[in-house]
Amino acid sequence: MSEENRRQKGFGITRREFLRNSALIGCSALAASQLEFIHGLIARVEAAELTAMEAYELMRADRTLHTACLNCNTGCGLKVKMIEGVVVKIDGNPYNPFTLHPHLPMSVSPYKTSKTDGAICPKGQSAHQGAYDPYRIRKVLKRAGRRGEGKWISIPFAQAVTEIVNGGFLFSQVPGEEKRQVTGLKELHAMQDL
Ligand code: SF4
Repeated sequence: MSEENRRQKGFGITRREFLRNSALIGCSALAASQLEFIHGLIARVEAAELTAMEAYELMRADRTLHTACLNCNTGCGLKVKMIEGVVVKIDGNPYNPFTLHPHLPMSVSPYKTSKTDGAICPKGQSAHQGAYDPYRIRKVLKRAGRRGEGKWISIPFAQAVTEIVNGGFLFSQVPGEEKRQVTGLKELHAMQDL
């Protein structure tokens, strides 16, 4: 289907527009028009309002990402199907024994298995809703005032990990906590490899 036809059929944004917007905003955030497109598409899927042609297009993912679900500690293998750079469907990775029994041998080419999906739970299937949620937490917030005061600063993820692991005088800027030393996780762990 041509880009003009896709627009006429209600897809709302063309591949060229998507790439242009992505170049402008970088990879860390989605432009409002893209979010509108995503939310509109998902809402139409959930309301069973897609036309037959649109449903057909949804089955023609132009890219599939094989990865793992981290929504619980099972870690199911995933096939993340994308159109125009937007996740439209998440299914199980048929090479993964958690999603298909017996699973496909690793020697089988992915080019031959594009229509074979494993099964995953509803939480895994709905992961794209979390990924595109406008309220998704993207930064680590660190308390910058007294408890309950509602003051926070954002810190890099790597800094948060370092502080949590090593501990220290993490709240020395907070009145009353200048000398409070926080114990890091590395001093608390009960087991380790010898
Ligand atoms: S697909 Fe479901 S069971 Fe599997 S890891 Fe994700 S949330 Fe857990």
